Amino acid sequence: MENLIIIGSGPAGHTAAIYAARAKLNPLMFEGAFAAGVAAGGQLTTTTEVENFPGFLSIQGPVLMDQMRRQSLHCGARILTETVDKVDVSQRPFKVWAGAQEYQARALIIATGATAKRMNLPGEDRLWQKGISACAVCDGGLPFFRNKVLAVVGGGDSAVEESTYLTKFASKVLMLVRRDVLRASKVMQERAQNNPKIEIMFNTLPVEILGEKSVSGLKIKNAMTKAESTLDIGGLFYAIGHLPNTSFLGGQLALDEAGYIKTQPGTTQTNVEGVFAAGDVQDKRYRQAVTSAGTGCMAALEAEHFLSTHSH
Ligand code: FAD
Ligand code: NDP
Repeated sequence: MENLIIIGSGPAGHTAAIYAARAKLNPLMFEGAFAAGVAAGGQLTTTTEVENFPGFLSIQGPVLMDQMRRQSLHCGARILTETVDKVDVSQRPFKVWAGAQEYQARALIIATGATAKRMNLPGEDRLWQKGISACAVCDGGLPFFRNKVLAVVGGGDSAVEESTYLTKFASKVLMLVRRDVLRASKVMQERAQNNPKIEIMFNTLPVEILGEKSVSGLKIKNAMTKAESTLDIGGLFYAIGHLPNTSFLGGQLALDEAGYIKTQPGTTQTNVEGVFAAGDVQDKRYRQAVTSAGTGCMAALEAEHFLSTHSH
């Protein structure tokens, strides 16, 4: 029987592993075997420079995650390169299955992250991370995007937030909205409408991304008239939502309407005592490596307290 099983291996999972191992909980981590289409180490393995993780002026995402993994192991965590298929949290000890193998644990930390939705447009695979990104706050400041016309797809709060952020660097930001209204909240709508660098293009559907080695344009279609045209842009950002990686939970934990795990405000405690959630799987707002690491720390400290006050 394990004290603590950590599911997921991004900044949240590894920070939890480091704290739990140092607290002598002997944690076992399932880092995933390309779970949810992402390599072990999580979303940062899919990017290049990370320039906003404290302690590093600039570090490659995969290098940062390799350092975290080594630190987890150095502190005494055990790591299995396996994907958890299902759990049973109806009673303690909790049960966790990876393939046919069953594991039991007195406490669980879920840190399985979220996956940004992609559009699968022609040109997307060729140009992904060569001018296309799903995280403006992460990538928008790269020299690559400076003083260019950039496009953001989406009409929700994220699209407004990302567009606003991009106006710091871009010459102009085009918000491409598929309907004739924004989904964003009123206050965010006003923020977009009042920003002279943002142009909102309603009824606009991206059709094909142009460029060989980097993004140079976007073919678009008007949803009403069906007329096609081309935008000259130097970068394309998707803000069409994220999918939290929670399907393996089989509905056993309380989720919000978008599928994120609900935690008690200010804590990582889920609706099941002894099961904690950290990182992007419970955070649809900030979605940053450092906030994920922060909640990973909280989850480990809360799990430690739980284990010290519950004998089974
Ligand atoms: P994730 O990083 O999503 O990792 C979760 C891990 O759990 C994955 O490896 C997944 O495979 C694994 N997993 C999922 N399901 C299972 C399962 N059933 N069993 C076992 N394992 C499972 N943030 C910044 O702060 N700065 C940046 O510069 C930055 N750049 C980014 C660039 C890109 C392209 C992207 C996509 C994101 C970027 N982010 C950045 C956001 C940051 O990566 C995330 O906020 C952060 O990685 C979330 O960490 P996490 O620990 O919650 O989960
Ligand atoms: P949302 O689901 O709210 O919005 C997604 C947007 O993308 C919608 O405008 C949607 O269009 C559009 N979209 C979806 N799929 C496609 C597609 N295939 N092609 C073109 N457009 C598409 O996601 P967000 O990430 O914006 O927000 C998620 C949650 O996080 C929300 O609850 C939001 O309020 C919250 N949030 C809050 C913030 C804040 O308060 N500062 C900041 C960021 C997020 P349509 O409307 O037609 O469906």
